[in-house]
Amino acid sequence: MDNTEFSNPHVAGNYDPLPVMLTRGEGAYLWDVEGRRYIDMMSAYSAVSLGHAHPRILAKLAEQAQRLAVPSRAFYNDRLAPFLEELCKLTGLDVALPMNTGAEAVETAIKAARRWGNRVKGVADPEIIVAAGNFHGRTTTIISFSSECEYRDGFGPFMPGFRAAPFGDLAAFEAAITPRTAAILVEPIQGEAGVIVPPDGWLAGLRRLCDERGVLLLLDEIQSGLGRSGAWFAFEHENVLPDGVMLGKALGGGVLPVSAFVAKREVMDVFTPGSHGSTFGGNALAAAVGLEALQVIRDERLVERSQALGARMLQRLHAMRAPAISEVRGRGLWAGVDIDPRYASAREICESLLAKGVLTTATHHTVVRLAPPFVISQEDLDLALDAVEEAISKF
Ligand code: PLP
Repeated sequence: MDNTEFSNPHVAGNYDPLPVMLTRGEGAYLWDVEGRRYIDMMSAYSAVSLGHAHPRILAKLAEQAQRLAVPSRAFYNDRLAPFLEELCKLTGLDVALPMNTGAEAVETAIKAARRWGNRVKGVADPEIIVAAGNFHGRTTTIISFSSECEYRDGFGPFMPGFRAAPFGDLAAFEAAITPRTAAILVEPIQGEAGVIVPPDGWLAGLRRLCDERGVLLLLDEIQSGLGRSGAWFAFEHENVLPDGVMLGKALGGGVLPVSAFVAKREVMDVFTPGSHGSTFGGNALAAAVGLEALQVIRDERLVERSQALGARMLQRLHAMRAPAISEVRGRGLWAGVDIDPRYASAREICESLLAKGVLTTATHHTVVRLAPPFVISQEDLDLALDAVEEAISKF
């Protein structure tokens, strides 16, 4: 079989990749099978924020793989507690529950909220309020409260117990609260929706609302967390502490699926032995790599780097005058550039970027996302942004 062919009947068609066959990655670079080098401007949806093949991550991965990888949670392993303790210290929360993918961390948060609603708040059929335009993953429960037709079409019946309010609209969230509401679950910045930054004060307003009405505030920081927004966590921009936070993506150092739900003790205490789990969640290899990823972010001052490079990226994007750009949004090293569909689709811009040696993808057909690894050099960032400007100006 020719492994350089794009089309293969054995590969399920749930993605529509750009026509490039990658074979190697290092730092902010990716190489295709013909040896052509690209600048990575999307970091695998922020899973590779630390860069590809980070030497410390690879060393930890190899060392721990040879020592102990997957012992299961039926026994203690000596890597897990130090990892979860660090997550708690960083977030300011009390207890962490490890999972693998982001969607599993969100499912964990939903189960925690429902049981908390049930057992602590005394509601028989608790409800969770989410934001329109959300993206929290692809499980059947999670797509049940998606507002995207493409994510739901044909996958019903859907899970009840969710209601939606417009993202960023505090009054609408207030109006959506009922005596059955157990939690508000939102992304502090909506990534897949197109890097939508809410109005200042919205998160702080939600915190106030949740305190007043006895509702949990649960934040999905799977994409926004661990430095992407220019702070360790996007909730820090508004000085709020959520009752629970979901982390994933970059937590695996760019090499493994590692996620977690981190929460206040009274929330996490609803889980008792046997009530929730995962064969791979919290395995020794994932925990060792997860802890190393957190230490790399701290030691290499990657949050500060995200903030500084991000300010430069956003300033340059805002200065671009191409008619095809209808809006630029972003925070930290993370931007969404809206492309006016009268000029081009976001996919066409990404294809043009590919030809110029820059890799990124569209979201929602009209937004070009830009989220390079934090280790990208300023020169490469500038080169990639030159390419973005050229690609968009062509239309
Ligand atoms: N939550 C957010 C905010 C995300 O952006 C994503 C993935 O893009 C997920 C959850 C789902 O993560 P995963 O694909 O690892 O299940």
